Amino acid sequence: MKIDSIKNGIVLDHITAGKSMEIYRLLGLDSLECSVALIKNVHSSKMGKKDIIKIDADIPLNLDAIGYVDPGVTIDIIRDGQLVEKKNISLPTTITNVIFCKNPRCITSTEQELPHVFRLTDVGNKVFRCMYCETKETN
Ligand code: ZN
Repeated sequence: MKIDSIKNGIVLDHITAGKSMEIYRLLGLDSLECSVALIKNVHSSKMGKKDIIKIDADIPLNLDAIGYVDPGVTIDIIRDGQLVEKKNISLPTTITNVIFCKNPRCITSTEQELPHVFRLTDVGNKVFRCMYCETKETN
């Protein structure tokens, strides 16, 4: 498989193998007009196996969504074929409208305009809880 190198765009690198689909879905990459390459199980000397996503456009990314799925991802910004910026992600302390509360009795299920806010309550186990009803979401 040959993937053309990107002239202007974004590379999400060092994605834990198997996590790229979830990032693709949470970022809504399926709705983009530009070409997006999702490459799974790439050999990595550091990680053994990793996933990579290449986006052929400079679009705004929801870093919280990426950090929620996989805080080890690195983001390379490419301009004119050159790497101009490298960003590291960290585990976000709050995430808004990234995941949605599944508790049918939660206020967010009746108050449609409320943002779905989850707070990180357990760093070690990556546990997020709904700000309104404390429902737990483990990733
Ligand atoms: Zn809730």
